[in-house]
Amino acid sequence: MSNSTHIEQLGEFGLIKHLTKNVTLKNSTSKVGIGDDAAVIACSDEESILISTDTLIEGVHFNLMYMPLKHLGYKAVAVNVSDICAMNGVAEQITISLAVSSRFPVEALEELYSGIEAACAQYNVDLVGGDTTSSLSGLHITLTVIGRAKNEVITYRNGAKEFDLLVVSGDLGAAYMGLQVLEREKEVFKSNPNIQPDLDGHDYIIERQLKPEARQDVVRFLKELDVIPTAMIDISDGLASEILHLCEASNVGCHVYDEKLPIDGKTSLTAIDFNLDPSTCALNGGEDYELLFTVKQEDFDKIKGNPHMTVIGHMTNAQDGRYYVDKNGSAVTLRAQGWQHFE
Ligand code: ADP
Ligand code: MG
Repeated sequence: MSNSTHIEQLGEFGLIKHLTKNVTLKNSTSKVGIGDDAAVIACSDEESILISTDTLIEGVHFNLMYMPLKHLGYKAVAVNVSDICAMNGVAEQITISLAVSSRFPVEALEELYSGIEAACAQYNVDLVGGDTTSSLSGLHITLTVIGRAKNEVITYRNGAKEFDLLVVSGDLGAAYMGLQVLEREKEVFKSNPNIQPDLDGHDYIIERQLKPEARQDVVRFLKELDVIPTAMIDISDGLASEILHLCEASNVGCHVYDEKLPIDGKTSLTAIDFNLDPSTCALNGGEDYELLFTVKQEDFDKIKGNPHMTVIGHMTNAQDGRYYVDKNGSAVTLRAQGWQHFE
C-alpha cells in the first residue's frame, strides 16, 4: 500500500466514523444503528431489542498479573450489561467469543467462566452462545449482550435539551485510583517478588477497578421514580469524555461544576497520596461504569436527595459552549483526556 494513513491521525471515534461513513440501514427493523451505547432493533409496537458488543484484550484492557481471571469474567459481563443500562433497558442474554493462547490451562478458563457465571446470576442474563478459537497473543474476549426495553423509555445520547439537569449515578474516579494502586504494587513486586503487595485500606477502590458493576439498579430506580432521562450514556472512558459525547450527540452545551462531582473520601485520599487532583481523576479516570444522564428540570424533585444520583451541572445552548466550573469558580473549556486507545 503506497497510501497509508496512521490510525492515530483519526483517533478511535474518527476511525469508527471513517470506516462506517457509507453504512445505511436497509431494514425497517433497524431503528438505530451505529452511534449509541447499543443498537435498537424493532421487535413489536411496544418493545425493542437492544444489542451491544465489546472486546477486552490482554495487555490493553486488562493485565493478568493483577486481574484474577474470575474478576475478568465478571467485568466482561458487567461492562456489556452497562451499555444496555445506558439505553434504559434490561439485559437478557449474552454470547461470548474467546481467542485463547495455549499457555492457558483449562483450570484458568474455568476461573474465567466462574466469574462470567457469577455476573450472569447477578444481572439475571443467560449465556446463549459464543465462539472459541486460538490466539497467538494472549487472551481476547468479545461479548455481545442482548437486552430489551419499552419503546417509550429507550434513552439515546441525543435527547438532551437546553436547561436539562446533568446527573451522574454513584461516585467517580475510584476505578482509576484502584488501578493506580494495583500498578504501583505491580512495580514493587517486579523489583522484589518477596514483598507482599500492600493493598490495605484500598479495598473499595480496588474492588471498583477489578469488579465494576453495571448500574441495573439505577435503571430500576429511575423507573420507580417515574423519571425517563432525556439522554443517557455509561461512563467507560471518563466523565469529561462522556459529557462531550452527550453534548455532541444532542447539540447542546453544558456547565459542569467541580464542587458537585461525587467523589468517595477513599478515592480523594488515595489521589492526594499519588499527587493527583481528585477532580481530575473523577473527570478523566474512566472505567467507573456509572450512568450519566440528563433529566428535565421538572423532574428535579423526584431525584433530589437520592443517594444514588448527583446533579453535577446543566445543559446549555450549543453556542454557549461546554464549560467546567473549577474550584475557583472559573469556567474553563471542558476537555477530555480519557483513554486514548491508539496513542
Ligand atoms: P461504547 O463506549 O458504548 O462501547 P463505542 O465507543 O465502542 O461505544 O462505539 C461507539 C459506536 O460505534 C457504537 O454504536 C458502536 O456499535 C459503533 N462501533 C464501534 N466500532 C465499530 C466498528 N468497527 N464498526 C461499526 N460500528 C462500530
Ligand atoms: Mg457505552
